[in-house]
Amino acid sequence: MKELLLKNMELLEDLSNLKKKVNRLEEAETTKLRAILDNLPFGIALIDEDGNFTYINPKFKDMFGYELRDIPNGRTWFRKAYPNDTYRHNVIATWKEDLEVFKENHVTGERKSWTFTVTCKDGDKKLINFIPVMLVTGEHLLTCEDVTEKTNLETQLRQAQKAEAIGTLAGGIAHDFNNILTALMGYATLLKDKMDKQNPLQRYVDLILSASQKATDLTRGLLAFSRKQPLNLTPLNVNSAIKETKKLLKRILTEDIEFSVSLTKDDAVVMADRSQIDQILFNLVTNARDAMPNGGELSIKTSITVLDNNFAEKHGFGKSCRYVLISISDTGIGMDEETKEKIFDPFFTTKEVGKGTGLGLATVYAIVKKHNGYITVDSKPNKGTTFNIYLPSIDVIVENKEGTIKTPMKGQETILVAEDNYEVRCLIREILEQSGYRAIEAIDGEDAIDKFKKNNDVKLVIIDSVMPKKNGHKVYEEIKKIRPHIKTLFISGHTKDVILKKGIESRKFNFIAKPLKVNDFLVKVREVLDGSL
Ligand code: ADP
Ligand code: MG
Repeated sequence: MKELLLKNMELLEDLSNLKKKVNRLEEAETTKLRAILDNLPFGIALIDEDGNFTYINPKFKDMFGYELRDIPNGRTWFRKAYPNDTYRHNVIATWKEDLEVFKENHVTGERKSWTFTVTCKDGDKKLINFIPVMLVTGEHLLTCEDVTEKTNLETQLRQAQKAEAIGTLAGGIAHDFNNILTALMGYATLLKDKMDKQNPLQRYVDLILSASQKATDLTRGLLAFSRKQPLNLTPLNVNSAIKETKKLLKRILTEDIEFSVSLTKDDAVVMADRSQIDQILFNLVTNARDAMPNGGELSIKTSITVLDNNFAEKHGFGKSCRYVLISISDTGIGMDEETKEKIFDPFFTTKEVGKGTGLGLATVYAIVKKHNGYITVDSKPNKGTTFNIYLPSIDVIVENKEGTIKTPMKGQETILVAEDNYEVRCLIREILEQSGYRAIEAIDGEDAIDKFKKNNDVKLVIIDSVMPKKNGHKVYEEIKKIRPHIKTLFISGHTKDVILKKGIESRKFNFIAKPLKVNDFLVKVREVLDGSL
C-alpha cells in the first residue's frame, strides 16, 4: 500500500514536471511566434468566425494607424477603411463573393488577392494588396501589403514610356513634315504675291496658308511636348506676344470665364522663343480654365520688376536684375500646400484619367528655366491661383510685327543653298532669285562642299542641318576651314545634333526654324549677310 502510494507520488511528480516542460515549450513557442508576428514586413489581422478582430500585428497598426480598439469588428473596419459608400459596397461584395466560393468548396489556405484603396486613421489613402486565408479553426487570417509607391512608380514608368514614344514619333515626323509645310506655305505665298489683288482665287490661297499655319502649330506643339525643338531666341516684346495670342487663348476658355489682359506701358522685351512663350500661356490658361468649372475670372498682367534681396530670401533664388513679370491669375478652386509642392513634377495631376497628363506645368517650368527665368505660385484652396513668371528683360526695342519690317530684304550676293529636299530647295532658290540674289543649289552635304570650293563668290551658305552624305554641322566645319569668315545660316525643323542645338541655343550659329515663312526668311538672310556672325 505504501509502495503504491509512493509510486503514485512519483508518477504525479513526473506528470507535473512534464506539464512544466510542456508549458515552458509552449511559452517558448509563443514567444517565437510573437517575435515573428511583431517583425513581419506586412500587416496581419486575425478575425474570428463572428467577424471580430482578435489580433493585429504592429505592422498593421503602422500601416493604417488603427489600434485593435478602433476596429473591434469587420463592420467597423469596413466603414472606417472605406468611407465612400459606393466603394465600400463594392469591396464588401467582392469579399462576400470570394467567401461564398470558399465555403462551398470547404477549402482552406490561400485565396485570391485583392487591391483596394484604404483610408487610414489620419485620412491618408493607401493602395493595399490583401491576401485572405481561412484557417482550419474557421478564423480568417488577413495579410496586407502597402503597394502605393510601387503602383505609382509603375504608372509613372508607363507614362514616361508613353511620353518618350510620342517624343520619338514627333521628332521623327517633324523633319519631313516641316519640309512639306515649308514647300506648301512658300509656294502659296509666292502665288499670292504674283496674283492680282482683285483675283477671286486669292481666297483659296489664303485658305491654304491658314490651313498650313494650323499644321505648323500642331507640329510645334508636338515638338514642344517632346522638347526636341531647338530654342530660337530673339528679342521679343512680351506685350505684343500676349496681344497676338489673346484671341487664341480666348478660344480655349468657356463662356462663363471673364478674361482680361492688362499690359504694362513700359517696354517688356526679353530674349525668348516666341513659340515657347505661347506654350507657357497656353498651358497656364488651360489649367486656369480647368480650375474654374463653374466660371470665374482670368487675368493676364505684365509689369516690370526688379527682384530685390527680399525676394531672393523668400524664394531662395533670384538674381537682382530687371525682369518682365507675367502674372496669370484665376479665381478657381486653388490648391492646398501638399498639391502645390508637387505641381511642377512631370506626370503629377489631380485630374481624372484622360483629362490631365501632368505635363503642362513641368513643360512650363522647363521653358522658364531655359529662358533663365523664375516661376512662383500663389494659391489657397477656393481662393484662386496666381502664377508669376519672371523673365530677364533686355533693352532693345524690336517690333516683330508683320508689315513693320524695316530691314531691307533684297540683295545681289551669291548664296549657296545646301538642302536635300527638292521642293524646299527649289522654293528657297525661287525666293532668293526673286529678291535679286544669285542662288546655287547643292543637293547634299558633299555636293555643298564641292560647290563651295568651286564658287569663290559665295557670300552666304544656307545649310539644312539634316542631309545625306554629310550632315549640316560637318559641312559647316569644313567650309569654315576653307574660308573662316564665310557667313552661314542653318535651317532645320528639329535637330538631333547636340553641339549644333547647343550652338543654336547660345546663338553661336545663325538659325531659322522650318517651316520657313517667306518674309521672315528674307529678313534673316539680309541680317546674316550684314551681321558679324
Ligand atoms: P494637368 O493639367 O494635366 O493635370 P499640369 O502639370 O498642368 O497637369 O498641372 C498639374 C496639377 O496642378 C493639376 O492637376 C492641378 O491639380 C494643379 N493646378 C495647376 N494649375 C492650377 C490652377 N490654376 N488652379 C488649381 N490647380 C492647378
Ligand atoms: Mg495642365
